[in-house]
Amino acid sequence: MDEKLSFFKDGLRLDGRLPDELRPIKVEVGVLARADGSCYMEMGENKVIAAVYGPREVHPRHLQEVTRAIVRYRYNMASFSVEERKRPGPDRRSYEVSKVSREALEPVILTSYFPRSVVDVFVEVLQADAGTRTAGINAASVALADAGIPMRSLISSCAAGKVDGEIVLDPMKLEDNFGEADVPIAMNPSGEITLLQMDGRLSKEELQRALELAKAGCQQIYEIQRKVLIDRYSHMDDMGSCDEVVAEEEI
Ligand code: ADP
Repeated sequence: MDEKLSFFKDGLRLDGRLPDELRPIKVEVGVLARADGSCYMEMGENKVIAAVYGPREVHPRHLQEVTRAIVRYRYNMASFSVEERKRPGPDRRSYEVSKVSREALEPVILTSYFPRSVVDVFVEVLQADAGTRTAGINAASVALADAGIPMRSLISSCAAGKVDGEIVLDPMKLEDNFGEADVPIAMNPSGEITLLQMDGRLSKEELQRALELAKAGCQQIYEIQRKVLIDRYSHMDDMGSCDEVVAEEEI
């Protein structure tokens, strides 16, 4: 059988999506009672939950910064989130994902408002199907807003990849495993990129196309994030935190 036929049928992908189509997204805000902000998000078969605590006192204290809050981000994959049981606990990959995810969000957090404190972000992956770092960043961004953390804007994230020579949006696990490239990005609503990674090989034109697709995907995700926050807070008396986020993301 022709290789190409195995990933595309009548122009559609194995799950019936067009090349430039995101997987279905489901978002719920404020799902955890003890966290200051939280968000549950599904992007296709990915299921993640983000919890935000803070701004709060830093422990250990030597990590304190006198002019700003520090941001910590812990990405963790549950051992039952993948087909083969994942060994519990941090590993090289989770350190890397935590670092790049923190760096994707930090630029929009107004850390100078809260010197000597910390904003802790926890992301737990309950089910993984490629794209967990991007799903985690999307959920964390909404959870930060839900916690009322002052931000310049929301951050939205998704990947584009190359499968059977074609550039596709939001590759699922099968496409990621057998694909030729994977380019996750994160950006603010103005299109300023805060995360850009690339696995595999792409020509300059293919990379441009991948960025174009991923940026369009991020815009769609941003609209969903924005709507879910407005829906949650528009009927409440105290709209302080939501006003701030929604107003500032227009900038
Ligand atoms: P992302 O989830 O952000 O796409 P990767 O590209 O590193 O990150 O991983 C792609 C997918 O590979 C994950 O979403 C998951 O489905 C699978 N995967 C990652 N780590 C493991 C692991 N330790 N065991 C089994 N599957 C894994």
